[in-house]
Amino acid sequence: MTVSVDGTRCIGCGMCAAAVPAVFEIRGRVSQVRSQPRTAGEKTGAFDAANGCPVNAIRIQRP
Ligand code: SF4
Repeated sequence: MTVSVDGTRCIGCGMCAAAVPAVFEIRGRVSQVRSQPRTAGEKTGAFDAANGCPVNAIRIQRP
């Protein structure tokens, strides 16, 4: 899976970075991908963050 954040949509709420700090981090005013998810927990967390993002800014591509 490949995770990306659409910086034009992100409002910098910080939810994803708080939930999965290994994958997302706030840089400036928006979230960016720090590292692609590797563990099962990081992958699940990335899916949950994508589902929970209030502006649908997190994209997940498979495989
Ligand atoms: S949850 Fe969505 S809006 Fe909030 S920081 Fe992450 S990508 Fe941005």
